[in-house]
Amino acid sequence: MFVWQRWAVASCVTLLWLGRVSFGVPDPARREQLLRDEASRQTGGKMSLSIAEQKLNSHLHKLKLQEMSATKFPPAMHFFSAKPLIQNSPVYKLIQKMPKGAALHIHSTSMVSVEWLVKNVTYRPHCYICFTWDNSVRFLFSDKQPFPRWDCLYWQLLEALRARIGDPTRFDDSLMQHLTLFTEDPEREYPNQNVVWEKFEKAFIAAAGLITHAPVLRDYIYKGLEELYYDNIMYLELRSGLSRTYELDGTIHDKVWTLKVFQEVTQMFVQDHPDFLGARIIISAHRALGVSEVKTVVKEAIQLQKDFPDVVAGFDIVGREDDGRTLWFFREALSLPAQLGATLPFFFHAGETDDEGSDVDQNILDALLFNTSRIGHGYAIAHHPLAKELSRKRNIAVELCPISNQVLKLVSDLRNHPAVVLMSEGHPLVISSDDPSLFGTSGLSYDFYQAFVGIGGLKANLGTLKELASNSIRYSSLPTNLKNKLHDMWLEKWDLFIANNS
Ligand SMILES: [Zn+2]
Repeated sequence: MFVWQRWAVASCVTLLWLGRVSFGVPDPARREQLLRDEASRQTGGKMSLSIAEQKLNSHLHKLKLQEMSATKFPPAMHFFSAKPLIQNSPVYKLIQKMPKGAALHIHSTSMVSVEWLVKNVTYRPHCYICFTWDNSVRFLFSDKQPFPRWDCLYWQLLEALRARIGDPTRFDDSLMQHLTLFTEDPEREYPNQNVVWEKFEKAFIAAAGLITHAPVLRDYIYKGLEELYYDNIMYLELRSGLSRTYELDGTIHDKVWTLKVFQEVTQMFVQDHPDFLGARIIISAHRALGVSEVKTVVKEAIQLQKDFPDVVAGFDIVGREDDGRTLWFFREALSLPAQLGATLPFFFHAGETDDEGSDVDQNILDALLFNTSRIGHGYAIAHHPLAKELSRKRNIAVELCPISNQVLKLVSDLRNHPAVVLMSEGHPLVISSDDPSLFGTSGLSYDFYQAFVGIGGLKANLGTLKELASNSIRYSSLPTNLKNKLHDMWLEKWDLFIANNS
């Protein structure tokens, strides 16, 4: 009998038992069976653990119990306040060491820590800075004094400015503030979603001048892969608009150049780190664009996928859903691949909203209508029963990014995140970090911690972690042979992790 058949029979028996009228104290054995059956439905609930895994699981359970009974419970706090507590958490330290498989939802403009951007990139020669009227900054590398622009009237050479300022550490800290959402007092500084999203978009624009400088881009991609690698991640799917890049003399490179650089740097990284499989791009267009502009990007994406099948995974529409245009608005552009007889897998952000019933809220159904391969965030899916059913039946995983959802103010206490329901039902899920540099979450360990301790609660166990990591390979865009290869590489690391920690 197959596993699912046994499970179906057990569930029916449980339901029959429940249906019976009972008098007096219910049978404890029946109660035990009921608890076991329900636990088997959660993420990782059907995973059978080896003796060594069971040993580590008991240890993890004890550690989690201690954290849940402490006065301050990190998943219930804002991540910016909880981060030092998480860094000291023994559960987090174990998760850091755990091989986590793949990162499937990260944006290219926020993949590297701001410390590196400021301490390394802004210290390079020919870097100019400009302070804008709306309290933001712009950076530009140039071999001569840059011309004034509408948003930047006065460019200053950063090296000279730093030399004039007496306290470079404080100055660098202030630069970091422009590139991240981090603040000591997030509740006061970000009273609502609009305020936090405004800062979010500003930080993206501020970082762009640094990242799109061609020589920086090469180092940036390498550094981004390195940060993931050090957090025990073996493969990346990166959402990127493939911005045009510029040289010191003002020469501009096109998207193809950027894609080739990404391919070259990734290959170099894999050569240096043979236990890292590689990285692919999900080409993205911003939802502020018009239909004809998105049509152009979709056509380019179709061509780029033909020309670089190993690198281009598919297409997505990005930017704040609540503010932007819906997937249905772009229906003509999104129908192009089918009309042209081309294959362009979609990986749509959908349901990153708490505005139930709005047009934006329908994105989640439209994403499925357009045959999305995964659902970015899917925060709203819990109250779309049909979308949930379709996503489960078609094995379309939800990319869960808990810290992003909290910092961008969809939920405050992660124990109340809708993914609690998804995880308890064993819905297809992967964990990712969305914008690590903006949230201060290098790698995936912080998000895994929040999902494991806050969203999964005491029920989530080592099987849950194992399934989430293995899901990241299963639901990746890789062809079957590479999925198998990555899975074997990951399993070898997993066994070593268990042996070293049980
Ligand atoms: Zn995202």
